Amino acid sequence: MRILQLPVLRDNYVYLLHDPETATAAVVDPAVAEPVLVKLAELQADLVAILNTHHHHDHVGGNQELLARYPQATVYAGEGDWGRIPGQTVGLAAGQTVHFNHHVAQVLFVPGHTRGHIAYYFPKSGDLFCGDTLFAGGCGRLFEGTPEQMLGSLDQLRQLPESTRVWCAHEYTLNNLKFALTVDGDNPHLQARYRAVEALRQAGSPTVPSSIGEERLTNPFLRWDQPALQASTGIQEPVRVFARLRGMKDHF
Ligand code: ZN
Ligand code: FE
Repeated sequence: MRILQLPVLRDNYVYLLHDPETATAAVVDPAVAEPVLVKLAELQADLVAILNTHHHHDHVGGNQELLARYPQATVYAGEGDWGRIPGQTVGLAAGQTVHFNHHVAQVLFVPGHTRGHIAYYFPKSGDLFCGDTLFAGGCGRLFEGTPEQMLGSLDQLRQLPESTRVWCAHEYTLNNLKFALTVDGDNPHLQARYRAVEALRQAGSPTVPSSIGEERLTNPFLRWDQPALQASTGIQEPVRVFARLRGMKDHF
């Protein structure tokens, strides 16, 4: 399975999963259809599945147009998102699997950003598609969930193997790390990552994917139990540390 990263709109990433052997493809969170259709034509591949993480327009905006061209494609999303995912055909719950040819994704239920948000984890290749739950250096805003829910979701993700590639849906990394430095500035891993990310962005390169290992070391939203974050929030209790950090970032 090849993963193609398509930058679209202002800062979204759409992911095309391409299986050259069968000339088929699946797409994760098609914000728009056009660049996906162009790439599919170039690859001479048929779209067989749309994998949506949640209902926001910058993740499902291309569904209908893709379905007009590939009416047979299966549209997967969380069972809690029935009624707000264009063309949804399957409602997924935690622990279920999605098969794309012989590639298998596990479904993780990760509410917080929205109440129906799911992530797709391919354990064999070590690829995680986490939408707007975990970002490189940050996490999604809490639009429909509580800090408790988001903490539980991020805790699930941080327990994945360190080598897991994190394919998040937005290029927010530089700004996320600017905030991270204000709350975890003495962290040498964070300082080094900031410099590396700054260089990548100056070169116009993506900073995604990162890895779970890297996020654990540098992402303040996975570090609610670290002394440095407890010190900068003045709080000990995990959920309250997390909630405070999220509130600070909302106004950053
Ligand atoms: Zn979103
Ligand atoms: Fe988004």
